[in-house]
Amino acid sequence: MKSKYMKQEKMPSVISASNALLSGRGSCCDDDDCLIEPSENNPLIISGLSDAVSAMLEGIGEDTGREGLLKTPDRVAKSLRFLTKGYRQDPEELLKNALFTESYDEMVLVKNIDIFSMCEHHMLPFFGKAHVAYIPDGKIVGLSKLARVVEVFARRLQVQERLTQQIRDAIQNVLNPKGVGVVIEARHMCMVMRGVEKLNSITTTSAMAGQFISSQSTRNEFLRLIKT
Ligand SMILES: [Zn+2]
Repeated sequence: MKSKYMKQEKMPSVISASNALLSGRGSCCDDDDCLIEPSENNPLIISGLSDAVSAMLEGIGEDTGREGLLKTPDRVAKSLRFLTKGYRQDPEELLKNALFTESYDEMVLVKNIDIFSMCEHHMLPFFGKAHVAYIPDGKIVGLSKLARVVEVFARRLQVQERLTQQIRDAIQNVLNPKGVGVVIEARHMCMVMRGVEKLNSITTTSAMAGQFISSQSTRNEFLRLIKT
């Protein structure tokens, strides 16, 4: 069953009658963690998106017929599908597939996880580091899965605040640990390239649960560890 984090993908209305084309199941790549639906590279979706990119090019006054731009709509369409592939992946499912019973009950921290996301207001990139920690309560999860969960939520249109909370909530829901802490530090291109044009500003957000809220020493240990 899909979790609340998955949205049913809306097909462009012109092709809604073609669902038969989408029913074949299969993996899109060799990656074990690949939870992308088979519709990911559906030619009809790519073609609809590609037409929209052509319209954008015209909108900015470009000549869509010139040589350098001939394949741009198709490239941008595929690139956008990649950059938003998190919509087609289920983060809770990903975590559930790598749970182990362990008595370890100290903090587990994976820090400096690269994030590349796009702000939902301008569709411009924001990027930086995520630090994810939890204190197990009988169950641990494969470490790479923590980075994967970050990736699934980052590969969607986001605001940094919500991204931070979604990562915390997915870990909390699946592992039910004694506590979760997530900190994200990122640079937003919509602040750098446009708007206030502040080149070096970094936005920090945090989302905590359990002992990371109730215990000052846990919180301090987490914040100290991610600074070093
Ligand atoms: Zn923005």
